Amino acid sequence: MPATSANRVIIVGAGPVGLVCALSLASRDIPVLVLEANDDLFMDLRAGSFHPPSLEVLEPIGVTARLLELGIAVHRWQWRDRSEGVIGTFELGLLSDETAYPYRLHLEQHKLTPLLMDMLRPIPHATVMFSRRVTGVTQDGERIRVRADGPDGPETHDGGWVIGCDGGGSIVRKAAGIEFTGFTYPERFALISTPYDLGQHGFSDTAYISHPVEWCAVFRLPHEGPPGMWRFLYGCRPDQSEEIELSEEVVEERLQSVLPRPQRYETIHKTIYRVHQRVAETFRNGRMLLAGDAAHLNNPIGGFGLNSGVQDAMNLTDKLVSVIRGDADESVLDRYVRQRRTVTIENIQEQSIRNKRLLEETDPVVRRERLEDMRSASADPKRAKDIVMRSSMIASMRRADAIA
Ligand SMILES: Cc1cc2nc3c(=O)[nH]c(=O)nc-3n(C[C@H](O)[C@H](O)[C@H](O)COP(=O)(O)OP(=O)(O)OC[C@H]3O[C@@H](n4cnc5c(N)ncnc54)[C@H](O)[C@@H]3O)c2cc1C
Repeated sequence: MPATSANRVIIVGAGPVGLVCALSLASRDIPVLVLEANDDLFMDLRAGSFHPPSLEVLEPIGVTARLLELGIAVHRWQWRDRSEGVIGTFELGLLSDETAYPYRLHLEQHKLTPLLMDMLRPIPHATVMFSRRVTGVTQDGERIRVRADGPDGPETHDGGWVIGCDGGGSIVRKAAGIEFTGFTYPERFALISTPYDLGQHGFSDTAYISHPVEWCAVFRLPHEGPPGMWRFLYGCRPDQSEEIELSEEVVEERLQSVLPRPQRYETIHKTIYRVHQRVAETFRNGRMLLAGDAAHLNNPIGGFGLNSGVQDAMNLTDKLVSVIRGDADESVLDRYVRQRRTVTIENIQEQSIRNKRLLEETDPVVRRERLEDMRSASADPKRAKDIVMRSSMIASMRRADAIA
Protein backbone atom coordinates (compact mmCIF):
# COMPACT_ATOMS: atom_id res chain seq x y z
CA MET A 1 0.00 0.00 0.00
CA PRO A 2 1.66 3.35 -0.98
CA ALA A 3 2.20 5.61 2.05
CA THR A 4 -0.13 8.61 2.23
CA SER A 5 -0.91 10.77 5.24
CA ALA A 6 -4.42 9.27 5.11
CA ASN A 7 -3.42 5.63 5.59
CA ARG A 8 -0.18 5.97 7.56
CA VAL A 9 -0.30 4.95 11.21
CA ILE A 10 1.86 6.97 13.58
CA ILE A 11 2.99 5.06 16.65
CA VAL A 12 4.33 7.01 19.60
CA GLY A 13 6.95 5.00 21.56
CA ALA A 14 9.43 2.34 20.41
CA GLY A 15 8.99 0.18 23.51
CA PRO A 16 7.89 -3.43 23.05
CA VAL A 17 4.21 -2.58 22.50
CA GLY A 18 4.91 0.16 19.94
CA LEU A 19 7.25 -2.08 17.97
CA VAL A 20 4.81 -5.02 18.04
CA CYS A 21 2.10 -2.67 16.67
CA ALA A 22 4.52 -1.45 13.99
CA LEU A 23 5.56 -4.94 12.88
CA SER A 24 2.01 -6.25 12.90
CA LEU A 25 0.80 -3.38 10.66
CA ALA A 26 3.85 -3.14 8.41
CA SER A 27 3.93 -6.89 7.77
CA ARG A 28 0.40 -6.46 6.35
CA ASP A 29 1.40 -3.66 4.01
CA ILE A 30 0.25 -0.71 6.17
CA PRO A 31 2.74 2.19 6.26
CA VAL A 32 3.94 3.05 9.78
CA LEU A 33 6.01 5.78 11.40
CA VAL A 34 7.31 5.18 14.93
CA LEU A 35 8.46 8.24 16.94
CA GLU A 36 10.66 7.53 19.98
CA ALA A 37 11.94 10.11 22.47
CA ASN A 38 15.15 8.23 23.36
CA ASP A 39 18.08 8.20 20.97
CA ASP A 40 18.09 4.37 20.85
CA LEU A 41 16.20 1.37 22.16
CA PHE A 42 16.00 1.41 25.95
CA MET A 43 17.79 -1.35 27.91
CA ASP A 44 14.65 -2.08 29.93
CA LEU A 45 15.08 -4.54 32.79
CA ARG A 46 11.42 -4.73 33.73
CA ALA A 47 9.53 -7.60 32.08
CA GLY A 48 10.92 -11.09 31.74
CA SER A 49 8.09 -13.54 31.12
CA PHE A 50 5.78 -14.35 28.23
CA HIS A 51 2.53 -16.20 28.87
CA PRO A 52 0.97 -18.65 26.34
CA PRO A 53 -1.57 -16.22 24.74
CA SER A 54 1.24 -13.73 23.98
CA LEU A 55 3.22 -16.49 22.25
CA GLU A 56 0.06 -17.46 20.33
CA VAL A 57 -0.70 -13.94 19.07
CA LEU A 58 2.93 -13.22 18.13
CA GLU A 59 3.23 -16.43 16.13
CA PRO A 60 1.66 -15.19 12.82
CA ILE A 61 4.10 -12.26 12.59
CA GLY A 62 7.09 -14.56 13.07
CA VAL A 63 8.14 -13.30 16.52
CA THR A 64 7.36 -16.38 18.63
CA ALA A 65 9.80 -18.67 16.81
CA ARG A 66 12.59 -16.20 17.53
CA LEU A 67 11.60 -15.79 21.19
CA LEU A 68 11.63 -19.57 21.64
CA GLU A 69 15.23 -19.71 20.38
CA LEU A 70 16.31 -17.21 23.05
CA GLY A 71 14.12 -17.88 26.10
CA ILE A 72 13.83 -20.47 28.87
CA ALA A 73 10.62 -22.56 28.87
CA VAL A 74 9.37 -22.69 32.47
CA HIS A 75 7.07 -25.64 33.14
CA ARG A 76 6.04 -25.03 36.72
CA TRP A 77 5.91 -22.38 39.42
CA GLN A 78 5.94 -22.64 43.18
CA TRP A 79 4.08 -20.89 45.91
CA ARG A 80 6.39 -20.81 48.93
CA ASP A 81 6.32 -19.41 52.42
CA ARG A 82 9.50 -18.02 53.89
CA SER A 83 9.38 -20.13 57.04
CA GLU A 84 7.55 -23.22 55.71
CA GLY A 85 9.21 -23.64 52.30
CA VAL A 86 7.22 -24.99 49.34
CA ILE A 87 3.46 -24.75 49.86
CA GLY A 88 2.42 -25.90 46.38
CA THR A 89 3.81 -26.49 42.91
CA PHE A 90 1.62 -25.59 39.92
CA GLU A 91 2.34 -27.54 36.72
CA LEU A 92 1.80 -25.69 33.43
CA GLY A 93 1.64 -29.06 31.66
CA LEU A 94 -2.02 -29.00 32.83
CA LEU A 95 -2.50 -26.56 29.93
CA SER A 96 -1.33 -28.97 27.22
CA ASP A 97 -4.91 -29.44 25.90
CA GLU A 98 -5.48 -25.69 25.86
CA THR A 99 -2.48 -24.19 24.07
CA ALA A 100 0.49 -25.10 21.88
CA TYR A 101 2.66 -23.32 24.49
CA PRO A 102 1.94 -24.92 27.88
CA TYR A 103 4.67 -23.01 29.73
CA ARG A 104 5.93 -19.50 30.52
CA LEU A 105 8.80 -18.30 28.42
CA HIS A 106 11.39 -16.33 30.37
CA LEU A 107 13.26 -13.74 28.34
CA GLU A 108 14.42 -10.23 29.16
CA GLN A 109 12.29 -7.37 27.73
CA HIS A 110 15.43 -5.71 26.35
CA LYS A 111 16.00 -8.71 24.08
CA LEU A 112 12.53 -8.41 22.51
CA THR A 113 12.87 -4.83 21.24
CA PRO A 114 16.10 -5.33 19.18
CA LEU A 115 14.55 -8.46 17.68
CA LEU A 116 11.47 -6.46 16.61
CA MET A 117 13.68 -3.67 15.20
CA ASP A 118 15.66 -6.23 13.15
CA MET A 119 12.40 -7.51 11.67
CA LEU A 120 11.15 -3.98 10.89
CA ARG A 121 14.36 -2.66 9.32
CA PRO A 122 14.02 -4.35 5.88
CA ILE A 123 10.37 -3.23 5.46
CA PRO A 124 10.45 -0.11 3.23
CA HIS A 125 7.13 1.35 4.45
CA ALA A 126 8.18 1.10 8.15
CA THR A 127 10.18 4.03 9.57
CA VAL A 128 11.43 4.33 13.15
CA MET A 129 12.70 7.79 14.13
CA PHE A 130 14.64 8.15 17.40
CA SER A 131 15.28 11.42 19.30
CA ARG A 132 11.68 12.52 18.60
CA ARG A 133 9.85 13.52 21.79
CA VAL A 134 6.19 13.91 20.91
CA THR A 135 4.79 17.08 22.43
CA GLY A 136 1.23 17.15 21.12
CA VAL A 137 -1.36 15.34 19.00
CA THR A 138 -4.46 16.78 17.33
CA GLN A 139 -7.11 15.24 15.11
CA ASP A 140 -9.88 16.28 12.75
CA GLY A 141 -12.37 13.86 11.25
CA GLU A 142 -9.90 12.47 8.70
CA ARG A 143 -6.39 13.13 9.90
CA ILE A 144 -3.95 13.09 12.80
CA ARG A 145 -1.23 15.68 13.30
CA VAL A 146 1.65 14.85 15.66
CA ARG A 147 4.11 17.48 16.90
CA ALA A 148 7.53 16.38 18.10
CA ASP A 149 10.82 17.90 19.23
CA GLY A 150 13.48 16.47 16.91
CA PRO A 151 17.25 16.90 16.74
CA ASP A 152 16.85 20.01 14.53
CA GLY A 153 13.88 21.51 16.33
CA PRO A 154 10.08 21.12 16.17
CA GLU A 155 8.58 18.80 13.53
CA THR A 156 5.07 17.81 12.47
CA HIS A 157 4.02 14.41 11.13
CA ASP A 158 0.62 13.66 9.60
CA GLY A 159 -1.16 10.32 9.52
CA GLY A 160 -4.55 8.69 9.44
CA TRP A 161 -4.32 7.20 12.94
CA VAL A 162 -2.11 7.46 16.02
CA ILE A 163 -1.43 4.71 18.55
CA GLY A 164 -0.10 5.88 21.90
CA CYS A 165 2.39 3.23 23.07
CA ASP A 166 4.27 5.81 25.08
CA GLY A 167 4.06 4.24 28.53
CA GLY A 168 2.44 5.31 31.79
CA GLY A 169 3.00 9.06 31.28
CA SER A 170 1.48 8.90 27.75
CA ILE A 171 1.27 12.24 25.94
CA VAL A 172 -1.18 10.68 23.46
CA ARG A 173 -3.53 9.78 26.31
CA LYS A 174 -3.28 13.30 27.70
CA ALA A 175 -3.80 14.87 24.24
CA ALA A 176 -6.89 12.68 23.81
CA GLY A 177 -8.22 13.97 27.15
CA ILE A 178 -8.51 10.48 28.61
CA GLU A 179 -8.41 10.08 32.42
CA PHE A 180 -6.05 7.53 33.98
CA THR A 181 -7.60 6.53 37.26
CA GLY A 182 -6.28 4.23 39.97
CA PHE A 183 -3.60 4.40 42.62
CA THR A 184 0.14 4.29 43.24
CA TYR A 185 1.63 1.95 45.87
CA PRO A 186 3.46 3.77 48.68
CA GLU A 187 6.41 1.37 48.48
CA ARG A 188 8.67 1.04 45.44
CA PHE A 189 9.66 -2.33 44.01
CA ALA A 190 13.30 -3.44 43.68
CA LEU A 191 14.60 -5.74 40.95
CA ILE A 192 17.96 -7.34 41.77
CA SER A 193 19.78 -9.85 39.54
CA THR A 194 22.41 -12.34 40.70
CA PRO A 195 24.29 -15.17 38.95
CA TYR A 196 23.82 -17.37 42.04
CA ASP A 197 21.77 -20.46 41.06
CA LEU A 198 18.72 -20.81 43.33
CA GLY A 199 17.67 -23.90 41.37
CA GLN A 200 20.22 -26.01 43.27
CA HIS A 201 18.22 -25.23 46.45
CA GLY A 202 14.92 -26.47 45.01
CA PHE A 203 13.51 -23.17 43.73
CA SER A 204 11.50 -23.59 40.51
CA ASP A 205 12.33 -21.11 37.72
CA THR A 206 9.43 -18.94 38.93
CA ALA A 207 8.71 -18.90 42.65
CA TYR A 208 6.61 -16.61 44.86
CA ILE A 209 7.68 -16.42 48.51
CA SER A 210 5.12 -15.07 50.93
CA HIS A 211 6.02 -13.13 54.06
CA PRO A 212 4.10 -10.38 55.92
CA VAL A 213 6.88 -7.82 55.34
CA GLU A 214 9.66 -9.31 53.24
CA TRP A 215 7.70 -11.08 50.48
CA CYS A 216 9.62 -11.77 47.30
CA ALA A 217 9.33 -13.32 43.84
CA VAL A 218 12.28 -14.98 42.06
CA PHE A 219 12.77 -15.87 38.38
CA ARG A 220 15.51 -17.42 36.29
CA LEU A 221 16.33 -15.49 33.12
CA PRO A 222 18.65 -16.41 30.21
CA HIS A 223 21.08 -13.46 30.66
CA GLU A 224 24.19 -14.42 28.65
CA GLY A 225 23.36 -18.12 28.38
CA PRO A 226 23.07 -21.22 30.63
CA PRO A 227 22.71 -21.38 33.58
CA GLY A 228 21.37 -17.80 33.30
CA MET A 229 20.76 -15.45 36.20
CA TRP A 230 18.17 -15.12 38.97
CA ARG A 231 16.12 -12.01 39.50
CA PHE A 232 14.62 -11.05 42.86
CA LEU A 233 11.58 -8.77 42.93
CA TYR A 234 10.42 -7.36 46.27
CA GLY A 235 8.73 -4.37 47.87
CA CYS A 236 10.97 -1.79 49.55
CA ARG A 237 10.23 -0.03 52.81
CA PRO A 238 7.99 2.98 52.00
CA ASP A 239 10.00 5.36 54.22
CA GLN A 240 13.46 4.40 52.92
CA SER A 241 15.40 6.37 50.27
CA GLU A 242 16.26 4.79 46.94
CA GLU A 243 19.95 5.12 47.75
CA ILE A 244 19.62 3.13 50.98
CA GLU A 245 17.36 0.49 49.41
CA LEU A 246 19.91 -0.17 46.67
CA SER A 247 22.92 -0.05 49.00
CA GLU A 248 25.01 -3.22 49.18
CA GLU A 249 24.08 -3.89 52.81
CA VAL A 250 20.31 -3.60 52.38
CA VAL A 251 20.27 -5.65 49.15
CA GLU A 252 22.49 -8.31 50.74
CA GLU A 253 20.20 -8.48 53.78
CA ARG A 254 17.08 -8.92 51.58
CA LEU A 255 18.64 -11.64 49.42
CA GLN A 256 19.97 -13.48 52.50
CA SER A 257 16.45 -13.36 53.98
CA VAL A 258 15.15 -15.37 51.00
CA LEU A 259 17.99 -17.91 50.88
CA PRO A 260 20.62 -17.61 53.62
CA ARG A 261 24.15 -18.60 52.57
CA PRO A 262 27.60 -18.09 54.09
CA GLN A 263 28.93 -16.13 51.09
CA ARG A 264 27.72 -12.71 49.96
CA TYR A 265 25.56 -12.48 46.84
CA GLU A 266 27.13 -11.08 43.70
CA THR A 267 24.71 -8.70 41.94
CA ILE A 268 24.54 -7.98 38.20
CA HIS A 269 21.77 -5.35 38.11
CA LYS A 270 19.92 -3.35 40.73
CA THR A 271 16.94 -1.10 39.93
CA ILE A 272 13.95 0.34 41.70
CA TYR A 273 10.49 1.24 40.32
CA ARG A 274 7.33 3.05 41.33
CA VAL A 275 4.37 0.77 40.78
CA HIS A 276 0.78 1.75 39.95
CA GLN A 277 -2.64 0.22 39.36
CA ARG A 278 -4.32 2.44 36.76
CA VAL A 279 -6.66 2.01 33.79
CA ALA A 280 -7.50 4.61 31.14
CA GLU A 281 -11.22 5.46 31.07
CA THR A 282 -11.24 4.45 27.37
CA PHE A 283 -8.56 3.22 24.95
CA ARG A 284 -9.92 5.27 21.99
CA ASN A 285 -10.88 8.82 21.17
CA GLY A 286 -11.66 8.97 17.43
CA ARG A 287 -8.43 8.35 15.54
CA MET A 288 -6.34 8.34 18.73
CA LEU A 289 -5.79 4.87 20.18
CA LEU A 290 -3.96 3.56 23.24
CA ALA A 291 -2.16 0.27 23.92
CA GLY A 292 0.16 -1.17 26.59
CA ASP A 293 1.26 0.88 29.59
CA ALA A 294 -0.26 4.02 28.03
CA ALA A 295 -3.65 2.32 28.60
CA HIS A 296 -3.07 0.42 31.85
CA LEU A 297 -0.51 -0.18 34.59
CA ASN A 298 -0.38 -2.94 37.17
CA ASN A 299 2.05 -4.34 39.71
CA PRO A 300 4.49 -6.93 38.29
CA ILE A 301 3.42 -9.90 40.45
CA GLY A 302 2.19 -12.44 37.91
CA GLY A 303 3.99 -10.86 34.94
CA PHE A 304 0.90 -9.37 33.27
CA GLY A 305 1.98 -5.86 32.14
CA LEU A 306 3.94 -6.46 28.97
CA ASN A 307 1.86 -9.53 28.16
CA SER A 308 -1.37 -7.56 28.21
CA GLY A 309 0.32 -4.82 26.13
CA VAL A 310 1.32 -7.36 23.48
CA GLN A 311 -2.21 -8.78 23.51
CA ASP A 312 -3.65 -5.24 23.11
CA ALA A 313 -1.24 -4.56 20.23
CA MET A 314 -2.26 -7.62 18.23
CA ASN A 315 -5.99 -7.23 18.93
CA LEU A 316 -5.92 -3.56 17.93
CA THR A 317 -3.77 -3.89 14.82
CA ASP A 318 -5.83 -6.81 13.46
CA LYS A 319 -8.85 -4.52 13.56
CA LEU A 320 -7.05 -1.41 12.30
CA VAL A 321 -5.78 -3.31 9.24
CA SER A 322 -9.35 -4.20 8.29
CA VAL A 323 -10.53 -0.59 8.82
CA ILE A 324 -7.69 0.86 6.70
CA ARG A 325 -8.29 -1.70 3.94
CA GLY A 326 -11.99 -0.79 3.95
CA ASP A 327 -13.06 -4.27 5.06
CA ALA A 328 -14.56 -3.12 8.36
CA ASP A 329 -16.29 -0.12 9.83
CA GLU A 330 -14.46 2.06 12.37
CA SER A 331 -16.83 0.82 15.06
CA VAL A 332 -14.78 -2.38 15.18
CA LEU A 333 -12.21 -0.32 17.10
CA ASP A 334 -14.74 0.13 19.89
CA ARG A 335 -14.80 -3.65 20.17
CA TYR A 336 -11.06 -3.49 20.80
CA VAL A 337 -11.79 -1.16 23.71
CA ARG A 338 -14.59 -3.37 25.06
CA GLN A 339 -12.50 -6.51 24.83
CA ARG A 340 -9.20 -5.30 26.18
CA ARG A 341 -10.43 -2.79 28.74
CA THR A 342 -12.86 -5.30 30.24
CA VAL A 343 -10.19 -7.94 30.80
CA THR A 344 -7.77 -5.31 32.06
CA ILE A 345 -10.23 -4.47 34.82
CA GLU A 346 -11.80 -7.86 35.51
CA ASN A 347 -8.67 -9.99 35.21
CA ILE A 348 -5.35 -8.15 35.13
CA GLN A 349 -6.09 -5.52 37.77
CA GLU A 350 -7.98 -7.93 39.98
CA GLN A 351 -5.36 -10.71 39.84
CA SER A 352 -2.29 -8.50 40.24
CA ILE A 353 -3.80 -6.74 43.29
CA ARG A 354 -4.86 -10.11 44.73
CA ASN A 355 -1.43 -11.68 44.13
CA LYS A 356 0.26 -8.91 46.09
CA ARG A 357 -2.25 -9.22 48.97
CA LEU A 358 -1.75 -12.98 49.08
CA LEU A 359 2.02 -12.61 49.27
CA GLU A 360 2.04 -9.98 52.01
CA GLU A 361 -0.96 -10.95 54.19
CA THR A 362 -0.23 -9.84 57.76
CA ASP A 363 -3.19 -11.29 59.68
CA PRO A 364 -1.89 -14.67 60.96
CA VAL A 365 -5.30 -16.36 60.80
CA VAL A 366 -6.08 -15.20 57.25
CA ARG A 367 -2.52 -15.99 56.26
CA ARG A 368 -2.78 -19.56 57.55
CA GLU A 369 -6.11 -20.05 55.71
CA ARG A 370 -4.62 -18.78 52.44
CA LEU A 371 -1.53 -20.95 52.68
CA GLU A 372 -3.68 -24.02 53.37
CA ASP A 373 -5.90 -23.07 50.46
CA MET A 374 -2.89 -22.83 48.08
CA ARG A 375 -1.58 -26.13 49.42
CA SER A 376 -4.86 -27.96 48.80
CA ALA A 377 -5.40 -26.26 45.40
CA SER A 378 -2.01 -27.44 44.16
CA ALA A 379 -2.88 -31.02 45.12
CA ASP A 380 -6.27 -30.92 43.36
CA PRO A 381 -5.84 -31.17 39.54
CA LYS A 382 -9.15 -29.41 38.82
CA ARG A 383 -8.44 -26.43 41.09
CA ALA A 384 -4.80 -26.31 40.01
CA LYS A 385 -5.86 -26.18 36.37
CA ASP A 386 -8.28 -23.36 37.10
CA ILE A 387 -5.44 -21.40 38.79
CA VAL A 388 -2.97 -21.95 35.93
CA MET A 389 -5.63 -21.05 33.33
CA ARG A 390 -5.95 -17.66 35.06
CA SER A 391 -2.30 -17.11 35.96
CA SER A 392 -1.21 -17.92 32.39
CA MET A 393 -3.78 -15.41 31.00
CA ILE A 394 -5.59 -18.04 28.90
CA ALA A 395 -8.82 -17.37 30.81
CA SER A 396 -8.61 -13.60 30.21
CA MET A 397 -7.80 -14.08 26.52
CA ARG A 398 -10.88 -16.29 26.11
CA ARG A 399 -13.01 -13.81 28.03
CA ALA A 400 -11.85 -11.03 25.66
CA ASP A 401 -12.55 -13.16 22.57
CA ALA A 402 -16.10 -13.78 23.80
CA ILE A 403 -16.93 -10.05 24.04
CA ALA A 404 -18.91 -8.87 21.01
C1 LIG B 1 9.54 -4.11 38.23
C2 LIG B 1 8.72 -4.48 37.02
C3 LIG B 1 8.75 -5.79 36.53
C4 LIG B 1 7.93 -6.14 35.44
N1 LIG B 1 7.91 -7.45 35.02
C5 LIG B 1 7.03 -7.83 34.04
C6 LIG B 1 6.92 -9.22 33.61
O1 LIG B 1 7.63 -10.12 34.09
N2 LIG B 1 6.02 -9.50 32.63
C7 LIG B 1 5.26 -8.54 32.04
O2 LIG B 1 4.42 -8.88 31.16
N3 LIG B 1 5.36 -7.23 32.39
C8 LIG B 1 6.23 -6.85 33.38
N4 LIG B 1 6.33 -5.53 33.74
C9 LIG B 1 5.60 -4.51 32.97
C10 LIG B 1 6.29 -4.18 31.64
O3 LIG B 1 7.66 -3.86 31.84
C11 LIG B 1 5.57 -3.04 30.94
O4 LIG B 1 4.18 -3.35 30.93
C12 LIG B 1 6.05 -2.84 29.50
O5 LIG B 1 7.34 -2.30 29.45
C13 LIG B 1 5.11 -1.90 28.72
O6 LIG B 1 5.59 -1.70 27.42
P1 LIG B 1 5.12 -0.42 26.59
O7 LIG B 1 5.79 -0.58 25.26
O8 LIG B 1 3.65 -0.27 26.69
O9 LIG B 1 5.73 0.82 27.39
P2 LIG B 1 7.26 1.20 27.68
O10 LIG B 1 8.09 -0.02 27.75
O11 LIG B 1 7.22 2.12 28.84
O12 LIG B 1 7.70 2.01 26.37
C14 LIG B 1 7.23 3.31 26.11
C15 LIG B 1 8.15 3.98 25.11
O13 LIG B 1 7.61 5.25 24.75
C16 LIG B 1 8.63 6.22 24.77
N5 LIG B 1 8.02 7.54 25.01
C17 LIG B 1 7.45 7.98 26.15
N6 LIG B 1 6.99 9.25 25.98
C18 LIG B 1 7.27 9.60 24.70
C19 LIG B 1 7.06 10.77 23.93
N7 LIG B 1 6.44 11.85 24.44
N8 LIG B 1 7.48 10.80 22.65
C20 LIG B 1 8.08 9.71 22.08
N9 LIG B 1 8.34 8.57 22.79
C21 LIG B 1 7.92 8.51 24.08
C22 LIG B 1 9.56 5.77 25.89
O14 LIG B 1 10.86 6.33 25.75
C23 LIG B 1 9.55 4.26 25.69
O15 LIG B 1 10.52 3.82 24.78
C24 LIG B 1 7.12 -5.15 34.82
C25 LIG B 1 7.13 -3.83 35.29
C26 LIG B 1 7.90 -3.49 36.38
C27 LIG B 1 7.85 -2.08 36.92
